[in-house]
Amino acid sequence: MPFELPPLPYPHDALEPYIDARTMEIHHGKHHQAYVTNLNKALESFPDIASKTLETILADIPSLPENIRTAVRNNGGGHWNHTFFWKILGPGKGGQPSGQLAEAITKAFGSFSDFQAKFEAVGVSRFGSGWVWLCVHDDKSLCICSTPNQDNPLMKGVVECPGTPIMGVDVWEHAYYLLYQNRRPDYLKAIWNVISWDIVEANYLQAVKS
Ligand code: MN
Repeated sequence: MPFELPPLPYPHDALEPYIDARTMEIHHGKHHQAYVTNLNKALESFPDIASKTLETILADIPSLPENIRTAVRNNGGGHWNHTFFWKILGPGKGGQPSGQLAEAITKAFGSFSDFQAKFEAVGVSRFGSGWVWLCVHDDKSLCICSTPNQDNPLMKGVVECPGTPIMGVDVWEHAYYLLYQNRRPDYLKAIWNVISWDIVEANYLQAVKS
């Protein structure tokens, strides 16, 4: 099987009380696992595609054979998005970014709290299921955008706002429903407590370097 579920980089209960252990067990062990299983299934008869990196596959969804295009978009997106999400979260994190990322956020959004308010608003207004992202565009500017379902900004030719994601938050109900029920705004406020700014900052530096 070319793609595998990566282990969570911390125990299931590490993000308590902001994200509960049961949600993490189901989210990682069932939802993320299902994206991996279904991605592998879709690519079973396409070893040439399956041997590429997931980033390469997602960057050119329109070139995929039509009969697997939607399955790879949804499940490949789901696998990439969740792998990325687990890494930008962590226990004992939160606070504020520093260095060049902090400067770029202030320049783009006015202040860190203005950035937080806009990020939350974009996440809250995503109708149905999807993601909210902090991205770097080709001109190295920062932008907050949202994608439906398991789309992400790497999917050039598919999404409205292509770019390099440096932070992303899952706003599917499966990410928060057990603890927050319908209160997505409360989940988005709480998640700042577990954002790993050192990782997001490393993602930013990588994105502006390339
Ligand atoms: Mn999810």
